[in-house]
Amino acid sequence: MGTQSAEGLPLQASMAARKARAAIVRKQQAPLTIEDIDVAAPRDDEVLVRLVATGVCHTDIVCRDAFPVPMPIVLGHEGAGIIEAVGSKVTNLVVGDHVIFSFNSCGACSNCQSHEPAYCHQFLGLNFGGVLLEDGTSPLSQNGELVHGNFFGQSSFATLAIARAKNAVKVDRALPLELLGPLGCGIQTGAGAVMNSLKVRPGRSIVIFGAGAVGLSAVMAAKVVGAGAVVLVEPNAARRALAMELGATATIDPRDGSDTLAAIRAAGGGAGVDYALDTTGIPAIITTAADALLPNGQLGLIGIPPPDAMMPLNIMSIYARGLGLKCIVEGDSDPQVFIPQLIELFKNGKLPFDRLIKTFSFDQINEAMAASESGDVIKPVIVFQPFSKGE
Ligand SMILES: [Zn+2]
Ligand SMILES: [Zn+2]
Repeated sequence: MGTQSAEGLPLQASMAARKARAAIVRKQQAPLTIEDIDVAAPRDDEVLVRLVATGVCHTDIVCRDAFPVPMPIVLGHEGAGIIEAVGSKVTNLVVGDHVIFSFNSCGACSNCQSHEPAYCHQFLGLNFGGVLLEDGTSPLSQNGELVHGNFFGQSSFATLAIARAKNAVKVDRALPLELLGPLGCGIQTGAGAVMNSLKVRPGRSIVIFGAGAVGLSAVMAAKVVGAGAVVLVEPNAARRALAMELGATATIDPRDGSDTLAAIRAAGGGAGVDYALDTTGIPAIITTAADALLPNGQLGLIGIPPPDAMMPLNIMSIYARGLGLKCIVEGDSDPQVFIPQLIELFKNGKLPFDRLIKTFSFDQINEAMAASESGDVIKPVIVFQPFSKGE
């Protein structure tokens, strides 16, 4: 699979566009439609990848429904696949390599230069702009009409994708590629929040709000770093039970009628916790998260809030405890460094994120998004083609 084109490698980059199937959003709050598109040959620093699978992330749903991305667009940003062609200046990847995609970054700004690409000065344009920033073109088209692509530097809701070599992370061919895509966003965001952003120390306590893919990845990471109390607040009973299996030491149902703040403090040892991580974006929950913190506690925010939400915190209350606040993008990850670390943890059984996944076929992509929205599935993954290890 994907290797027949190996002999033609140097020529591929200059060859004509290829046909692919893509799930297109034509207007907000409408279902995706699977249509034929043309995918341009990779430019000098790009790779063309045949997708094996892609995760569905909450951000895809937000962009389908509310966030102002240009239409029509191909979303998808947790792609995993096999390189089918490489641009002339790509030196670190070859045809046949297995890769997973992560977010795009410029590589040149001060934050990129200091290995903080999640805070790239051009993050919004590069990941949500739908076109190449330098010339306004898209690698995707249909009957000569532009279809916006480059979503998170990939647009992985398609059978073929163009990415930059920079945001394609090579992975071992022996790994189950169809499961790895979510490492590129949801899993690295939750795990990175604990390991990179908050730098949770061994023995210290943490409360995590929300048991989606991000929150449960944070639970697994808290166990990895040797946190003491790992407290999860989540209304869904099945997810609370799963969290206990993945490393939580206590769970709290915020809808059971009892005092959630008191329960967090008790679970943390009595007075509070050292770290709080919100994955919900709900202002009242962020207030509870801050109130639960011990002096010098650190509050991490990941959840996307409503656009008009204000931070409901009493300044003296957080000042008097010397609290730190970190708004977290992509778990402060440098994907080329952090994703291989997460894969090592996965291989050693310490980050069993596969337990969050349910797979869907490509023609079920709207059902996959609905299953995420309803809470039935923690991490939907679209599988484009059958795949077995070692191919
Ligand atoms: Zn940058
Ligand atoms: Zn995402």
